Amino acid sequence: MARRRKSSRGACSVVACDTEAVRSLSRRRVATALTDLEVAEGRRAYLCKDHYKKYRKATKVDRTIDRITWQ
Ligand SMILES: [Zn+2]
Repeated sequence: MARRRKSSRGACSVVACDTEAVRSLSRRRVATALTDLEVAEGRRAYLCKDHYKKYRKATKVDRTIDRITWQ
C-alpha cells in the first residue's frame, strides 16, 4: 500500500492555478495538449481535477490511438 505524504501534496502545475493536483503526467504531453495554458517547468506536470478534465478533452483523439496500440 502506498502511503502519501500529506506534507508534500502538490499543487496543480498550471501557472496561476493553486488547486491540489490529482494526476501526474509527462509535462511535455500536457504542454502539447493544453497549448493555451502555461505549465510550470519540470519533468512531470501535476494537474488538478479541472485541468485534468481539460487535458483529457484535448487528448481525446490521442487516447483512442493509445488504446488501440496499448494491447
Ligand atoms: Zn489546475
